[in-house]
Amino acid sequence: MKPFAYLRPDSPAEAVAAFAGRPGAQYLAGGTNLVDLMKLGVATPEVLIDVGGLPMDHIDVTPDGGLLVGANVRNSDLAAHPVVRSRYTALSQALLAGASGQLRNTATTGGNLLQRTRCTYFQDIAKPCNKRAPGTGCPARDGVHRDLAVLGHSEHCVATHPSDMAVALAALDAAVHVQGVAGERRLPVRDLHRLPGDHPESDTVLSPGELITAVELPPRPAGERTAYRKARDRASYAFALVSVAAVLDVHDGTVRGAALAFGGLAHRPWRAAAAEAALAGAPATRESFVRAADTALDGALPLRDNGFKVPLARNLAVAVLTGLATDAQDGEGTS
Ligand SMILES: Cc1cc2nc3c(=O)[nH]c(=O)nc-3n(C[C@H](O)[C@H](O)[C@H](O)COP(=O)(O)OP(=O)(O)OC[C@H]3O[C@@H](n4cnc5c(N)ncnc54)[C@H](O)[C@@H]3O)c2cc1C
Ligand code: SF4
Repeated sequence: MKPFAYLRPDSPAEAVAAFAGRPGAQYLAGGTNLVDLMKLGVATPEVLIDVGGLPMDHIDVTPDGGLLVGANVRNSDLAAHPVVRSRYTALSQALLAGASGQLRNTATTGGNLLQRTRCTYFQDIAKPCNKRAPGTGCPARDGVHRDLAVLGHSEHCVATHPSDMAVALAALDAAVHVQGVAGERRLPVRDLHRLPGDHPESDTVLSPGELITAVELPPRPAGERTAYRKARDRASYAFALVSVAAVLDVHDGTVRGAALAFGGLAHRPWRAAAAEAALAGAPATRESFVRAADTALDGALPLRDNGFKVPLARNLAVAVLTGLATDAQDGEGTS
């Protein structure tokens, strides 16, 4: 591992200021991704700014009934929070589907959102990779890409974003609060990550040194249901081949509102706006859900070895939506 300096600021403002004076700096939170990448020689920061001790570790119910989750809240604490379990079920399920118990006890909300892709070429410094070393090429396109993107990829990169939590947050209309030298701003999680285009080296729209301080979850209407489901190669810890986060509001057999996001398919959580529009006002039936899933996956461009992801995503989305609709019907029947 390359030698590095280590700083431990006392406040978010101090962390941001420390970063501003040091181009080779990187924030460190739980370290479960960054330290691995440093050991592999993929990340070579000159300065580690340890933000893990900053007081960004609270979960607060906001006056409007939403939640404000500090960037340092551990994944296991967020998954177990009673309000998350009851009102943001998809988020709790997504967190529990990610990594292992030990990792979730250390991994943080901010770090989870900004973890790097698991593309094998990205993690192997002996190989070319446009994301790690811009301009060197993308061997995954014609090489090993079974786990990689079918939507929104470019000739320069076909990587997928690995976070389960980010997919649930995208469907739940969460927003991130960030602090930088230019001040504070707030942006929807669904706009945080970017498609690879010509610049796969950038995973997000954040400027260098912008610190995530919190994630905000809006209040959810009563009667709405949410769920997350993940298809993976094994039951123990594994990244998603495909995952689905869905929000469904059904009344008298009709969809009043829906949100749908996919993981494992693209360089970012894939929010399916056209499918959501098709669902609004439609009968809450399997036929409507199949139509919506097909709409969502309409632009898929599978590579040689990952075409299986398209029917897998379709079936997963239909299963999740059907399950939510059935729960809604049962709920109406018993209330
Ligand atoms: C074996 C294994 C299996 C895993 N399986 C899954 C899985 O199935 N699903 C899943 O979602 N994840 C999985 N993970 C990933 C794990 O969830 C992430 O490593 C973890 O969430 C990262 O959080 P961290 O706090 O450790 O981040 P760190 O490693 O400390 O940081 C990660 C990145 O975020 C940046 N960063 C951290 N905090 C901030 C902040 N507040 N503001 C700005 N930048 C910040 C760092 O600079 C770094 O670039 C797995 C990891 C391992 C090792
Ligand atoms: S898919 Fe992206 S991360 Fe993987 S080798 Fe290609 S450029 Fe690198």
